[in-house]
Amino acid sequence: MSDSRHYDVVIAGTGLYGTSLGAILARHGARVLLIERGRHPRFALGEALLPQSAIWPFVLGARFDVPELGHLSHADRIVDHITSTCGLKHSIGFAWHRPGAPAEADHVHQLVPPHLPFYSESHLYRRDVDLFMVEAAQEHGCDYVDETTITDVVWTNEEVTVSTDDARWSADIFVDATGRHSLLAAREGYRDAATEAQTHSRCIFAHVEGLPAIDDWLKADSEGRRLHDGTFHHMFEGGWMWVIPFDNFHRSTSPLASIGLMLDPRVHPEDASLSPEEEFHAVVGRFPTMAAQFEGVRAVRPFVRTARLQYTATTSVGPRHVLAPSSYGFVDPLYSSGLVHSFESVFRVASHLLGGLRLDGSSGPRSDFSAASLAPIDALHRAQWADADRMASTAYAAMRDPRTWAAWTQVWLAQVLFSDLWLQRACFRFFESASTDELDVLLQGNRPGSASPLAPHREALLDDLAALLADSRDPQATATEMLARLSAESWLPRHVYDWGSAAARSIDFSRPEVAGALLEWGFTASPEPLRSALFDFSLPGPAPT
Ligand SMILES: Cc1cc2nc3c(=O)[nH]c(=O)nc-3n(C[C@H](O)[C@H](O)[C@H](O)COP(=O)(O)OP(=O)(O)OC[C@H]3O[C@@H](n4cnc5c(N)ncnc54)[C@H](O)[C@@H]3O)c2cc1C
Repeated sequence: MSDSRHYDVVIAGTGLYGTSLGAILARHGARVLLIERGRHPRFALGEALLPQSAIWPFVLGARFDVPELGHLSHADRIVDHITSTCGLKHSIGFAWHRPGAPAEADHVHQLVPPHLPFYSESHLYRRDVDLFMVEAAQEHGCDYVDETTITDVVWTNEEVTVSTDDARWSADIFVDATGRHSLLAAREGYRDAATEAQTHSRCIFAHVEGLPAIDDWLKADSEGRRLHDGTFHHMFEGGWMWVIPFDNFHRSTSPLASIGLMLDPRVHPEDASLSPEEEFHAVVGRFPTMAAQFEGVRAVRPFVRTARLQYTATTSVGPRHVLAPSSYGFVDPLYSSGLVHSFESVFRVASHLLGGLRLDGSSGPRSDFSAASLAPIDALHRAQWADADRMASTAYAAMRDPRTWAAWTQVWLAQVLFSDLWLQRACFRFFESASTDELDVLLQGNRPGSASPLAPHREALLDDLAALLADSRDPQATATEMLARLSAESWLPRHVYDWGSAAARSIDFSRPEVAGALLEWGFTASPEPLRSALFDFSLPGPAPT
């Protein structure tokens, strides 16, 4: 460790948030101390990436010149530089199940994102990835202490002081990336005693070996690709399950998979008479196709059963301190937004702190890091949480019935497609100009994408459909109305996907003709102002490594 006891930034918690932020800040000359209560390598959740959570590490790596972050953005770069224990996320798949009946082929959805040269989605084996990132942060200059318990955090107008039983450090600002049991949320009374979340869910999860591919029972629509080659979701009334194989990449050496059952406790109350593993199999046993897939799996670490997962806090900033998104709140892992939120926040917080510490070359006094000056960070975390709660609670309402679930899946696809495009646009414009200003566009608005031309319209649509689903008494009528709404939306590219048709269940943007048709629509036929504000880049971009 450095002799200095004063740091620019002290960060508690060395998950991907703390280490990504620490690496960026240290790379740009900040004196950073990382404090970890545990010790790497250690287990962590947050394994499935989305296009956005794969693109974000690329953006962060390019914007802040931290190549190790860029390695997280591509399955091949992970094997080349980090570990061969991660899997591939070629697609996102869903199958809806009725108790006592095998899953039906027309209740399967498969969505395949485009294959672009600069990123691909992975299943992160976090034990190895987090170890790599904590080492990378140190190589960039962070000091690091582990197995360290913080006993106090106090601030004055001038600095913040972080203490343990036998050490004390001061800093300009303290970042709490310790997660659910956030130090500051507990110490400052920020944690809401009763969360406002509309989503109710608990979890039973494990890592297992011996998992057969779901393709032994259900067929993928996309040619030549298994459902097993992505994150697969079993859906049913009041719950869903993630299946995240680590063995599905041709360069992977892992035999493992991550599985997790999410249950609304109002529909599936905990059975405390059963062990977590017994309860897992009891729930799965109600659904024949799921029971068959999980019959022979062997847990390589004990099943864990949680209480209700939702939490939030009154604020995520205060004088000289910031709570990371996972310290501020959490909703539900459906749609894997956790790491998207982490990386969005790292981008905003890193930009803010480098400016406030004057490490970005700007002149003037260093920031006092007052709560008011940190308000844009709080606004981001609040918007992320509220969005996650709306999406997850609406999804739980939709998963009561296969018809509403199918319609909702189209709504989600429409949302995520345009959020991905907003991020991809920034990257393509960056490739063209080599100017990081194109990436800094993502700092506009409360959240990346909130400044896009479609955002208000999409928000209104989501609010309407959330209300419709929450009040639904007739699934067929609700699904019909949802599909009719989608049919009427002029901003959806109709010739690549039959939005609004109950039969539209799969789309494969990895097929060049499908991705090409989307781009052609965007450049020539999409409505204004979408065309001029979203499709204002040139192709092809280079393939950075
Ligand atoms: C059931 C579940 C499934 C999920 N699945 C996904 C998914 O598939 N995809 C996705 O994107 N996101 C997922 N998430 C969310 C994801 O886990 C988080 O968004 C992400 O891990 C947050 O990263 P982090 O670095 O902030 O926190 P973490 O990864 O939780 O790291 C926190 C670190 O802080 C340390 N720590 C804790 N207390 C202290 C202390 N007092 N002092 C010092 N150090 C401390 C811990 O040891 C740990 O190393 C899931 C979450 C849950 C609950």
